[in-house]
Amino acid sequence: MPWYKKLHWQIIIGLILGVGFGIATTLSGYGWFTDDWIMPFGTIFINLLKLIAVPLILASLITGVASLSDLKKLSRIGGKTVALYLGTTAFAIVIGLVVVNVLQPGHTVPPEMREKLQSMYETEANSKSEAAAQQADRGPLQAFVDIVPENFIGAAGNNRNMLQVVFFAIFAGIGLLMLPKEGSAPLLAFFSSLNDLIIKLVEIIMLFAPYGVFALIAGTITSIAQDNVAQVLELLSALGYYSFAVVFGLVFHTVLTFPLMIYFLTPFKVKEFFTKLLPVQLLGFSTSSSGATLPVTMEIAEKEIGISEEISSFALPLGATINMNGTALYQAVAAVFIAQTLGMELDLAAQATIVLTATLAAIGTASVPSAGIITLVVILESIGVPSAGIALIFGVDRILDMIRTVTNVTGDVVVAAVVASSEGQIVQLPAK
Ligand code: ASP
Repeated sequence: MPWYKKLHWQIIIGLILGVGFGIATTLSGYGWFTDDWIMPFGTIFINLLKLIAVPLILASLITGVASLSDLKKLSRIGGKTVALYLGTTAFAIVIGLVVVNVLQPGHTVPPEMREKLQSMYETEANSKSEAAAQQADRGPLQAFVDIVPENFIGAAGNNRNMLQVVFFAIFAGIGLLMLPKEGSAPLLAFFSSLNDLIIKLVEIIMLFAPYGVFALIAGTITSIAQDNVAQVLELLSALGYYSFAVVFGLVFHTVLTFPLMIYFLTPFKVKEFFTKLLPVQLLGFSTSSSGATLPVTMEIAEKEIGISEEISSFALPLGATINMNGTALYQAVAAVFIAQTLGMELDLAAQATIVLTATLAAIGTASVPSAGIITLVVILESIGVPSAGIALIFGVDRILDMIRTVTNVTGDVVVAAVVASSEGQIVQLPAK
């Protein structure tokens, strides 16, 4: 197959052309054209992916759990997966804290710029703080209560409630595991056929991926620039050092920690593994949503990388919902940056609190665009930093969201690969 026909190259070409188109239409005053006539195709693409995310989680987790032969196996694999998710998240936060403490980006924002940013994004910051306050105000165990839905349709009706769908699916999977074979067989057959259907739908949607990515990126650029390129440049220069700190931490974790895990803990060749993962990362980047990327993550993990269906169908939907290394790392940098900018120094105890709260906050972050900045408020409150401070970082958050989502989706597949290899569940793929 010629190189340009490979999916990841097609997506890269779509992405580059999208950036060029977005910048060109913005600069020439035709941003409206991209907004009205190009972006809708991006929205359709991302909607298609979101549309199949909930049924996919349901079908794959139910069949995934039920196909494990017994509860002992489930708790072993489940325990390993969750431990690795939590461990890598905490490690990512430590990287974020080291980077932000060494680079000290908060000491580079001049006071006039600080005031300007705070007044410019006051309304957005307030509405996000309110959303977070509603979550935070309700007692220490509320996070657990929130995982258990009182109504299945309600849970499945909102992509922000994926964790509730995950809960239901694992619960139902366990129930099926405990039923006698004749009782569970019809439902299992149904869900596994639903699973196959979704995989087919993903293949169809992916034919459209390069165009979808083109439209999404072009639309994102015009909406960030809002036909005012000067303002974007000003923001980037004020928050450039902060953005650099976040991106540096994310890149470090993605190109060092993860490859080292693959090298030492799995039989995969590092270069080959990450080349195959590229379409997943590019899609994470362009959609800013691990939930929307999930269908493709699963397809690539099983069909290209060779992670067994048993592990991938359990670990990946779970990972897309609870494992957010990139978000956690970014939240650590952002929390300390905001404190530094507001002239507050955080002692060791406060930084240790960040490790704990950011781990929990990342789990609670919905796998949709811009969700991380809402849960950041919870972290700020736990260390006594005014949550209105998120106004300071709002201007560049959309861009950083794209990059942290790449780290999020990469982390899911890396952990799934490590679990699969520890279980002897790497599948030999037919040579292409
Ligand atoms: N957009 C991220 C994701 O879906 C979540 C975040 O906002 O950090 O993985």
